[in-house]
Amino acid sequence: MNTIIQTKNLEKTYGMGDIQVKALGGVDLRINEGEFVAVMGPSGSGKSTLMNILGCLDRPSSGQYFLAGEDVSGLDKVQLASIRNRRIGFIFQSFNLLPRTSALRNVMLPLVYKRENQLSPAQREEQAMAALESVGLADRAHHEPNELSGGQRQRVAIARALVNEPDLILADEPTANLDSHHGHEIMRLLGRIAKEENRGVIIVSHDQRIKDVADRILWLEDGQFKNIIDMALDPVCGMSVARDSAPAQAAYEGQVFYFCANGCRDEFLARPGKFFKKTGPDK
Ligand code: ADP
Ligand code: MG
Repeated sequence: MNTIIQTKNLEKTYGMGDIQVKALGGVDLRINEGEFVAVMGPSGSGKSTLMNILGCLDRPSSGQYFLAGEDVSGLDKVQLASIRNRRIGFIFQSFNLLPRTSALRNVMLPLVYKRENQLSPAQREEQAMAALESVGLADRAHHEPNELSGGQRQRVAIARALVNEPDLILADEPTANLDSHHGHEIMRLLGRIAKEENRGVIIVSHDQRIKDVADRILWLEDGQFKNIIDMALDPVCGMSVARDSAPAQAAYEGQVFYFCANGCRDEFLARPGKFFKKTGPDK
């Protein structure tokens, strides 16, 4: 199996002088073709910073990043833009589709900007149509975003990310603006794309169900990957929390429970039976 991305001791520090923020503190990562990997972690833990670097939108402060075998950590902005256009597809939380523009035209856009191997308008349309078909939206090709549901809009955005046949697809909280049914549908679609088209797909998500769909879960906290074994589920809100740095914990019937905040712990202690029966502790 081929490695698509590999990072070595990736670090990112924002700011200069006295106010420096270390957003990534030594990230080692390897992802193969066909793998669907989820990155989870609390807000501010460095997930978007990591995605921006993997997406060649930003450069690491130190460390190495190999994309399809090429060390891209030292490239300048123009070189990064070229790599990005050739190798990477992005999916955003807010879809980022052009309004008053058909699904088909939205999906064709990356082909218009493509410098190498310019396609004829008919070829562009054909490729965009194929991408829409692969996300099950061929029959909505001529609809504009405001005529589509949230889930359909995100599928158009996925088709747009696929149209250039990227090696790597990066999705930063793609389900955050969707209801749970459509969110789950998008997760499964991304998983299918990784498998059927043999691409690397990385998703940032807070949705616990991603654990059932992704091949691997990586837990980022304070800019570093933590062992998933050290994680527990907050029985009240369902969030994952790291055992050794959980903001609150409580013992009940001989077990220790971990919480994302004091509020969840208080709610738990007020009626422990309600949460204990329903979800139980994380093993
Ligand atoms: P997440 O996506 O996990 O919520 P981010 O990667 O956005 O986390 O942020 C990680 C840390 O880096 C946070 O402390 C955040 O405030 C900081 N940060 C992110 N982007 C910038 C920036 N452009 N300038 C300064 N600090 C930043
Ligand atoms: Mg983020």
